[in-house]
Amino acid sequence: MKYIDEFNDPGLARRLLDEIRATATRPWALMEVCGGQTHSIIRHGIDQLLPEQVELIHGPGCPVCVTPLDVIDQALEIASRPGVIFCSFGDMLRVPGTDRDLFRVKGEGGDVRVVYSPLDALELARRHPDREVVFFAIGFETTAPANAMAVHQARRLGLNNFSLLVSHVRVPPAIEAIMTAPACRVQGFLAAGHVCSVMGMAEYPELAARFRVPMVVTGFEPLDILEGIRLAVRQLERGEHRVENAYPRAVREEGNPAAVRMIEEVFEVTDRNWRGIGPIPLSGWRLTDAFRAYDAEHRFDVTGIRTEEPAECRSGEVLQGLIKPTECEAFGTTCTPRTPLGATMVSSEGACAAYYLYRRMNAATPQAERAAREEMNPVA
Ligand code: SF4
Repeated sequence: MKYIDEFNDPGLARRLLDEIRATATRPWALMEVCGGQTHSIIRHGIDQLLPEQVELIHGPGCPVCVTPLDVIDQALEIASRPGVIFCSFGDMLRVPGTDRDLFRVKGEGGDVRVVYSPLDALELARRHPDREVVFFAIGFETTAPANAMAVHQARRLGLNNFSLLVSHVRVPPAIEAIMTAPACRVQGFLAAGHVCSVMGMAEYPELAARFRVPMVVTGFEPLDILEGIRLAVRQLERGEHRVENAYPRAVREEGNPAAVRMIEEVFEVTDRNWRGIGPIPLSGWRLTDAFRAYDAEHRFDVTGIRTEEPAECRSGEVLQGLIKPTECEAFGTTCTPRTPLGATMVSSEGACAAYYLYRRMNAATPQAERAAREEMNPVA
């Protein structure tokens, strides 16, 4: 498949690994920001193929994982109300709230539906004018343009029975929070290529200079990731700290200006709580006053819901790269994809799920992998 097969070439992967081995003379710790990159790294065993000097630390870039428990409980409350059609991407249905998840709400009679786009939810609002249709708008800069577009369309079409439960987060403030944490060991970043394909690279030079870290915009296939690592290690060995683009087939310097304009028309920057991490200033988006009428949090009056994280789940440390999932005592015992204690064990981009799926199975046969996948997606 064009743009995928050629980035899985084993011969080229070996050459890149040889170059990384030849370049790295000292220990370096790199963080891959995005959960999609984490899954690719664990799935292909990239971290195990690297020379021992190069450590990969998994970052907080899984949108499902960082959606705070308060917001999950708000979703559960709204989805339980009569007359509501609650729409979400499939990953969110198994994320545990305080005492249940969206699957449980669906089982108890709530009208919870999996959709593939916010525009699907908008279409439901058009077909069911007597119902309130709510879309669970979570995610990073990648999902924000489509969610902004959905609200924009709702207003244009006069669909007043449509709203968003918004929990959008932004990558640059998370990088700042990671770098200013006392226990931070990160010396360089593989920046998330799909985020930069939307937002461009303008926000990163200041961060790279202030924290003296290389930031390499990186894709998701094995060769993309190895090339990102190679460039980051080369900068570190040379004492450089620049922004480099290792994903030029998808990322332009300026990103996607039309998508950014759509985001800025509908959303404004706000402080956000990150699940397992806590509040990060200016790290998210909310609807602007002009679109506040489409804000489900206010429409359903669920702003007062406040909850505590379960003490036994260490996903906050996982998301900050302070521990690996296997260092959590609950991993694979009391916490599995069927009995998740935290969102990082549920999401298709969660680090705990990646380790469970690709590392827990010693005999990584296709049958074993299929069994683990079925455990993660019992309704698939
Ligand atoms: S293994 Fe489970 S309990 Fe441990 S950090 Fe991951 S999600 Fe939380």
